[in-house]
Amino acid sequence: MDKNLIIYNTLTRKKEVFEPLNPPFVGIYVCGPTVYSDVHLGNCRTFISFDLIYRYLLHLGYKVRYVRNITDAGHLEGDRDEGEDKFAKKAKLEQLEPMEIVQKYTLSFHEIMSIFNTLPPSIEPTAIGHISEQIEMIKEIIKNGYAYEKDGAVYFDVEKYSKAHPYGQLTNRKLEDLLEGTRDLSGQDEKKGRLDFALWIKSKPETLMKWPSPWGWGFPGWHIECSAMSTKYLGEQFDIHGGGMDLQATHHTNEIAQSQACSNTAPVKYWMHTNMLTVNGTRMSKSAGNGFLPGELFTGNHPLLERGYSPMVIRFFMAQSHYRSTLDFSNEALQGAEKGFYKLMKAGETLNKLTSAHESTVNIKELEENCYKAMNDDFNSPILVSHLFEAVRIINLVNDSKEMINLEDLERLKKLFKVFVFDILGLKDDLAKESSDLTGNLIDLILNLRLDAKKNKDFATSDKIRNHLTDMGVVIKDTKDGFEWEITN
Ligand code: AMP
Ligand code: ZN
Repeated sequence: MDKNLIIYNTLTRKKEVFEPLNPPFVGIYVCGPTVYSDVHLGNCRTFISFDLIYRYLLHLGYKVRYVRNITDAGHLEGDRDEGEDKFAKKAKLEQLEPMEIVQKYTLSFHEIMSIFNTLPPSIEPTAIGHISEQIEMIKEIIKNGYAYEKDGAVYFDVEKYSKAHPYGQLTNRKLEDLLEGTRDLSGQDEKKGRLDFALWIKSKPETLMKWPSPWGWGFPGWHIECSAMSTKYLGEQFDIHGGGMDLQATHHTNEIAQSQACSNTAPVKYWMHTNMLTVNGTRMSKSAGNGFLPGELFTGNHPLLERGYSPMVIRFFMAQSHYRSTLDFSNEALQGAEKGFYKLMKAGETLNKLTSAHESTVNIKELEENCYKAMNDDFNSPILVSHLFEAVRIINLVNDSKEMINLEDLERLKKLFKVFVFDILGLKDDLAKESSDLTGNLIDLILNLRLDAKKNKDFATSDKIRNHLTDMGVVIKDTKDGFEWEITN
């Protein structure tokens, strides 16, 4: 296990040496999607960033339990416990049951994650599947004096909590500043304080998704699900909690308060936040309506796009920026990423054909150390990519006989390429797939022409095709429906 990994901790605002609470085990919790609509590319950026982090921790030999939830209940439109339920609103709009909305967008989320080649999490808990755990946690917070019931709803008492704990620590803000920046409680006077937030919300007669509780029928506030599920699967204290930066000030701040108020422990050792994907400098978001759906990017079917891009080009585009930097979306940037990606893939193919010499004139060990140094420095993927282009340069020079590489270095370079490009950056060679698809289609075409020749009793042509393909390593089996074939070398 590499002891040199440094992680930037949002909580302390410092880079820290990564020391898991219970090595070799590492627990990570990442706030997952709210499945009332398709994820946009901004959401994908966050999940792809954590996929890279997960992959690297696995590569270092940690036994990682990666929990990423699905938010399928308790999400109101307003950020202050007001507005319509997003699931109910969408269900009405699409004339579906709320659970059909949940199912539809959960499936599409999984499909998109798989297209981007992200590894599935170890556990993917849902808010609806953990209502009783959330109720138990709320009961505990009330018992400890940090929440109060009012007319069938339960609120977290932020001012009382702040007397014992630093409520705004995750964004480095004092309570007075937070209070100043918050609007009045217009129409929400069941709350005692302006910053108080709902743990349990009373349902209305028309509410579709509701559950019984000690406080009557209702549904959980949005923040409590993550506290309840992270505690259940990772314990009262765990290593890493992640999500997009937009969650820091409210959702994660409230998660810390809930867990601390429930079990009197700071729940998370390292808080990690990904920066936003922007479009012309504005954050891509569902509500702003500037979100690209992954499908629109693959096809190019969007007014802002000149053409489509492959999922791996988009994944590579994301790897070219650090997870804590903003990433601005543009056609030029994607075209640049496409060139870079295919240069890398082509070099990988050339690498497999290189032959070794007796000695090396290139320094692969240093290159490998640089790749680790980059990833150990808070998962710095853009620096890693720059070292991988140094690998591309070396591969092409050796291929052009301008440099030499011995067997040991060649094996080291092949391993480096596999580990960093495919295992850690999570890229796939879709160039190889495309060319194998093309080869397959061409063989089918030729064999169909051979079938026509046979039907026309032109056995000379039919035999000629068979013999040529056999010479090329394509083994053909005639069947009653036509043919089967296999490439043997
Ligand atoms: P949501 O489905 O809105 O709850 O968001 C799911 C995840 O995507 C959260 O971790 C958000 O912080 C993250 N996210 C939302 N918008 C963006 C964006 N423009 N760039 C990067 N991450 C985002
Ligand atoms: Zn969350």
